[in-house]
Amino acid sequence: MDPTYPPEADAYREKVQAFLAEHLPADWKGIGALDRLEVEEFTRSWRAILAERGYLASSWPKELGGPGLSALEQVILAEEFQRAGVPLGGTNDVFSIQMVGNTILQWGTDEQKRHFIPRILSGEDIWCQGYSEPNAGSDLGNLGCRATLDGDEWVINGQKIWTSAGHLANWIFVLTRTDPEVPKHKGITFLLCPMDQPGVEVRPIKMMSGDSEFNEVFFSDARCPKENVIGEVNGGWAVAMTLLGYERGEAAATFPLMFRTELDRLVALAQERGVTTDPRVRQRLAWCHSKVEIMRYLGLRSLTQFLNGHQPGPESGTFKLYWSEYHREVTQLAVDLLGADAMTPSGRWPASSFQTDDPGAPNDSASWVGASYNARAGTIYAGSSEIQRNILGEMVLGLPKEPKGATPVSWRDDQAARS
Ligand SMILES: Cc1cc2nc3c(=O)[nH]c(=O)nc-3n(C[C@H](O)[C@H](O)[C@H](O)COP(=O)(O)OP(=O)(O)OC[C@H]3O[C@@H](n4cnc5c(N)ncnc54)[C@H](O)[C@@H]3O)c2cc1C
Repeated sequence: MDPTYPPEADAYREKVQAFLAEHLPADWKGIGALDRLEVEEFTRSWRAILAERGYLASSWPKELGGPGLSALEQVILAEEFQRAGVPLGGTNDVFSIQMVGNTILQWGTDEQKRHFIPRILSGEDIWCQGYSEPNAGSDLGNLGCRATLDGDEWVINGQKIWTSAGHLANWIFVLTRTDPEVPKHKGITFLLCPMDQPGVEVRPIKMMSGDSEFNEVFFSDARCPKENVIGEVNGGWAVAMTLLGYERGEAAATFPLMFRTELDRLVALAQERGVTTDPRVRQRLAWCHSKVEIMRYLGLRSLTQFLNGHQPGPESGTFKLYWSEYHREVTQLAVDLLGADAMTPSGRWPASSFQTDDPGAPNDSASWVGASYNARAGTIYAGSSEIQRNILGEMVLGLPKEPKGATPVSWRDDQAARS
């Protein structure tokens, strides 16, 4: 690990800071200081500025419409945006750019790249992720949403669930079962499906915060063109795994900063409540401080590897496990400090159900209670803590694998045995 950046980093950092100063109001405190409707409006116009000024899709080369930044520049951009409290793109860009965009760039045909990449950048196509099903989450290979060929089109029938921001999307990348007669991982195809058709129904799921950020998606004879396959027909598992690698994105650069900002707010809350002399509170705050520092070093280790040209491997699960388990503890401390106020949360709720509240958010009880709900989801999405531990045990520590059935059976036989 090398915790220092080379000298050229400073010049690029100043350039990004100048861009931020030019486009943000002088009294800008971070997107968290805006109310919920303003957040939507700001995010839309901010994305347009990023697209116009070439800051969107920071890892993409110039010839594909990206800014063509070096690895170091991408890291600095992510850091400075995080510090300023502005997003790196629009609400669905984690799915559009980071996940499916990167996957199309890696696996897509030239024709697919020419068609989809400009539409992603312009915001014409807005994507969501159709992986999980009621019977396929951690065991994703068990998925049963069927696709069959009918002439020049795939016909899709089945259900997806937990589809984040699906109600804002007009395209879904969907893992489908195209051959039930072979072992489960071998009969999956990765399809690109338009959502504005009668065969696709999006039903919102109400969360305990009262918001509806994710959905069930039902396919009833939904159709997409035959050529909308990424990778090979029945070879979708490898494509699906590539995409999950991109899901982690810029976390190593931005999460340590994000959790530091959040912890600073928590210390301010403890001060406001006059409990900073309580040794039990001090002990828990000190524990949080040490965790955020360790995260900073974990992040720097990943960044050092990234800057040296290595893509993150299974060991990046350590970071996911670490931040998500930490976040449950720090937000529980906040709820404990709020005491009875946490039972009647007031003020501004977080605008998103992921991770911390946004930088600049007021230190309201609703902000902390909302962040504590988010923290419950953090140990589930992008691979639950148990799955992360399995990956780390098997792939990093080399421990024996979980026992599997002696001979792989077809997906159909496996389903029959389960029922
Ligand atoms: C906020 C949020 C947003 C999401 N967004 C999306 C989205 O946009 N698109 C999408 O496709 N999915 C999405 N998901 C779904 C997410 O990927 C799944 O919830 C996750 O993969 C876990 O699957 P599951 O919920 O079916 O739980 P299960 O897989 O049924 O797991 C239940 C419990 O069993 C444990 N478990 C399972 N298998 C093992 C094992 N082998 N060893 C030890 N323990 C095990 C799990 O850790 C968990 O505690 C989202 C989830 C959340 C919470």
